Amino acid sequence: MRAVLIDAEGADARLVEDADESLLTGPVELDVLFSSYNYKDGLAIAGTGIARRFPLIPGIDLVGRVTGSEVAEYSAGDLVVLNGDGIGESRHGGFATRARVRPEALVRLSADLSPERAAAIGTAGFTAMLSVLRLEDGGVAPDSGDVLVTGASGGAGSIAVALLAGRGHRVVASTGRVEENTEYLRELGAAEVIDRRELGDEVGKPLQSQRWAGAIDAVGSTTLANVLAQTTWGGTVAAYGLAQGMDLPTSVMPFILRHVSLAGVNSVDAPSALRERAWDALVRELDLDLLDSLTTSIGLSETIPIAQRILSGEIRGRTVVDVT
Ligand code: NDP
Repeated sequence: MRAVLIDAEGADARLVEDADESLLTGPVELDVLFSSYNYKDGLAIAGTGIARRFPLIPGIDLVGRVTGSEVAEYSAGDLVVLNGDGIGESRHGGFATRARVRPEALVRLSADLSPERAAAIGTAGFTAMLSVLRLEDGGVAPDSGDVLVTGASGGAGSIAVALLAGRGHRVVASTGRVEENTEYLRELGAAEVIDRRELGDEVGKPLQSQRWAGAIDAVGSTTLANVLAQTTWGGTVAAYGLAQGMDLPTSVMPFILRHVSLAGVNSVDAPSALRERAWDALVRELDLDLLDSLTTSIGLSETIPIAQRILSGEIRGRTVVDVT
């Protein structure tokens, strides 16, 4: 099989044309058709601590065709999607032509979605939908008021903007690249685009002017602290990322004086029923033309040089990896 391999902590990732398939273990075996490129894949390839076994095939997403299965639920020919569940971190991932995986987190590919588009959605889109569902479950409705998306031009952020706008929310998109990305974010459905420095440079007062009925946050740190302080009474903030930092210098004031909820989002270990709910909603709601407009495609050999670019926030939207 052809695979990207990381041999050891800190070692350069390399593309191997005839990698040994006996590396792979797991009851469902697949031909991988597509993977996608996420921030975490950049971290793994750059050697910054995401990889938890060596050697490791990175790639936290895969879309593939089952070629053999030791479990009754899947059989040869089935098209499946896998996001997270440790692949690309503690289990071998999608940057290879072959994979063997656990069945627990597999989702059957809908007939309404091509394998390439499912990869374009990938962990980013899945996480965006999990975040949207957190707002929905928290009671944030389209008439509740403005909803903020931070890290809006990133992979998950871009899809969150499209999903929320599609549901009828007035979306405010926060980005570090206002000039470059305003038109792009408006095309995805943002009603307003703001500079992320407005939210994030330093922590403001524990309670600030109420601006957001809900928010979906990619960045953490001072940005998330300020977003919580600006959330309206009873609002929900879904937090999934740490692009700015893993700290959260906040106080209890938004929670005890404004009834604000901070809702965590974890795609990696999401249980099967939640995966099905999110993927069903993605298939129903995501505008596929918009998805195509925010997607670019690369081959396996390009996964290594692109790592630093995603880590420095230069990549916009989603990147599909065509492994074939
Ligand atoms: P991307 O790199 O595609 O997007 C991240 C975006 O965050 C960038 O495009 C940029 O957007 C913004 N950003 C980057 N650096 C900073 C900074 N220093 N301060 C403020 N904003 C910044 O990544 P993904 O969309 O794949 O992932 C985003 C985050 O979510 C990552 O931290 C990732 O690890 C995490 N994640 C978590 C998941 C979970 O299950 N909880 C699943 C998937 C991702 P802009 O230029 O518009 O400001």
